[in-house]
Amino acid sequence: MPRYKILTWGCQMNEEDSEQMALSLQERGYQPADRLEDADVILLNTCSVRRKPEDKVFSTLGQLRKLKARKPNLVIGVCGCMAQLRAEEIQRRAPHVDMIVGTAHVSQVGTLLEEVLQRRRLMMRLELPPRKGAIVTDIPQRKIDRAPKLKAYVPIQYGCDKFCTFCIVPITRGRERSRPTQDILDEIKRLADRGTKEVILLGQTVNSYGKNLLEGRVPFARLLQLINDIPGIERIRFTSPYPRDFRDDLIHAIAELPKVMEHVHLPLQSGDNEILKAMRRLYTVEQFEEIVQKLREHVPNIAITTDIIVGFPGETEEQFEHTLEVVERIRFDGAFMFAFSPRPGTPAAQMENQIPRAVKQQRLQRLIELQNRITCEINAAQVGRVFEVLVEGPSQKDPSKLAGFTRENKMVHFTGPRELIGQIVRVRADEAHLWGFYGSVLEREPRGRP
Ligand code: SF4
Repeated sequence: MPRYKILTWGCQMNEEDSEQMALSLQERGYQPADRLEDADVILLNTCSVRRKPEDKVFSTLGQLRKLKARKPNLVIGVCGCMAQLRAEEIQRRAPHVDMIVGTAHVSQVGTLLEEVLQRRRLMMRLELPPRKGAIVTDIPQRKIDRAPKLKAYVPIQYGCDKFCTFCIVPITRGRERSRPTQDILDEIKRLADRGTKEVILLGQTVNSYGKNLLEGRVPFARLLQLINDIPGIERIRFTSPYPRDFRDDLIHAIAELPKVMEHVHLPLQSGDNEILKAMRRLYTVEQFEEIVQKLREHVPNIAITTDIIVGFPGETEEQFEHTLEVVERIRFDGAFMFAFSPRPGTPAAQMENQIPRAVKQQRLQRLIELQNRITCEINAAQVGRVFEVLVEGPSQKDPSKLAGFTRENKMVHFTGPRELIGQIVRVRADEAHLWGFYGSVLEREPRGRP
């Protein structure tokens, strides 16, 4: 039985693509291998959002060169964002690679592999769908017979039309295309039949879903409503929305649809309007704060998390301080915080006034300290509160405990019988930490807003 190994870097969309790649190989009789040495096919599903994962892919390809010298029939493929962006460099630096497969074709790796095996020469598939605004029907056909899982990612949109100046995604994943609504609903119904209770809808700007569909515009809030009606699905999350498109109908959907969780991950990126403009983020700090205020007004106890980049080209000390002030004012529940990483091919990489690495690191450290303090304070204030938790399995930190997430996406560890796995239970938060809570199970409880 031939075996495959897929190594994945990057975001949830990449994890999701890797699952589709695995299904495509399994359809052709391939089985997963535990170790690289046991595989007949090794696929690297890559990420270009920062430099580090790109470096890691090249060092992995260096190791695989030795493996291929011992196993000449081994097929090696580079897939995803780096394939899209750096195909020539991959060919030059890693001539032992057999397949280079761009983001729009990863779900066809099984078919492409057959061609590689027949022809024994490099296979490249890199075309991206056409221009902005077109009604695009060549959305990848997804395999929806997925393995049973409690929580499942479901892509609803591909690519991005926003062109933030620091971001490589519109180049690697192409223009924004929404997946037909019925396809999404069919996949989620199938997942629910197989035991999925929580779906996480994925898109680069997930709330601009529904433009340019053949069947006509379907607003994201309407899609949430349709998913909310699917029996068996208990929880709906989505990531990541774009602030400018965060309209009132979405705020009302979060407030009114019982299965939509009280958590929004809303990327701020910077707390300074000049920097936001240089980033081409299409909203101001004031508009961002207005959305946060409305969310908090309409959805009690909502958790709001964010992404922030420090050290964007030209960011002055004062502009960085503005970010700290906004973080202090908004008090996010958590944040992914990064030092700016110039990506070749983006406008920001060409900008003058790049910030020295040491300054970026020092700003990042200050921001992390501030945000960690706020997260700890917010969590500490919730000790004693009873949360509804979907029990996912044994805790990775301490397998004698169970772990799950609250509706607000906070992690909780607690002691309880294994039969609780897969169920929604009420847990009291006893002890707060940066990562979440230790708690005690109170009782099993039918679902509903706390
Ligand atoms: S919205 Fe901006 S940061 Fe997000 S994927 Fe699109 S271009 Fe990149």
